[in-house]
Amino acid sequence: MLGKEMQITVDKLQGKKLTAILKVQSCVLKEVSDFMHEKKVLQLLPVMISPITDPLNHSVMDGEISYYEDKLQLTKSMILHKQLSLLGDRAAIYIVSPNIRLELKEKGATGRHLLEFSQVDFELKGKSASEIMAFTEEMLFRIFTRVKKECSQELESLGREFKMPHFPLKVYDSKELEKMLGSDWEKLISQKSTEPIWATNHEREFYDKEDPKRPFSYLNYDIIYPEGFGEGLSGAEREHEYNQILERMKRKGMSFEPYRAYLQIAREGLLEPSAGAGFGVERMVRFITGQEKISEVAPFAKVPGEKFVF
Ligand code: AMP
Ligand code: MG
Repeated sequence: MLGKEMQITVDKLQGKKLTAILKVQSCVLKEVSDFMHEKKVLQLLPVMISPITDPLNHSVMDGEISYYEDKLQLTKSMILHKQLSLLGDRAAIYIVSPNIRLELKEKGATGRHLLEFSQVDFELKGKSASEIMAFTEEMLFRIFTRVKKECSQELESLGREFKMPHFPLKVYDSKELEKMLGSDWEKLISQKSTEPIWATNHEREFYDKEDPKRPFSYLNYDIIYPEGFGEGLSGAEREHEYNQILERMKRKGMSFEPYRAYLQIAREGLLEPSAGAGFGVERMVRFITGQEKISEVAPFAKVPGEKFVF
């Protein structure tokens, strides 16, 4: 007799449903790879430990590990490494990047948070927010087209009628959405929508560029999936000028010390203007396959606050 959690895990691992979901996921990743290759976006292998990682805009538990006298962070996202990898003559890079975010227990109830997930994370030198939004839409169109073509049987077996969104997607300023819908705007707009939308202009991490023409407005953008699936992609133009980075870190009340090496690179004027984005693979697969919970799409899902076996 297996215990309850074990039985749930074994049922999932033995189920045909997981096979259908993984076929969709493989198709998504194959199209990402083909698309990036065509666009001459170079693939980096993941960084999983580093003295620095994404500070994030929300609290998570500490993911620090000790190695002799050094402290290393488990990667929350490769944003800072993305910027650094564009120092040379590389025009564009992407990573299928494992992220560890030890999210607080409350996040377990959202149906879209895991403690470990993978994001397709890309960054293009010298590009603007609108150029990356167009690039992202082209990529999504390609992914969705391929999945609909190659995984129609799997989608049918999952009972999912996946409709191709109408591109270009509608764009909303998040401040306007908040005025209209209140602080829970993200959830509400997702529930109301039948198509993914862009929400722009969020006040968050120091590395998302402030609009030089509109102080305290930000050149960042999220895709919010419809039908209540919630946020699925975030990106931005990046801050690359030393003084502006310092100003933004100060505004967030951050300590400069952990970022000393990164700041030195910025002070030397070596960071390049860039823009990019990242989407969570599991969230996209959940949306495409119409699963209620993200744990359905991850064989070894770690849901915040829940027990996990493997
Ligand atoms: P962020 O830059 O924080 O928006 O993260 C990039 C993307 O990763 C998000 O748009 C989501 O698709 C995905 N993501 C973020 N946090 C999680 C999580 N805890 N579990 C699963 N996916 C996540
Ligand atoms: Mg986000």
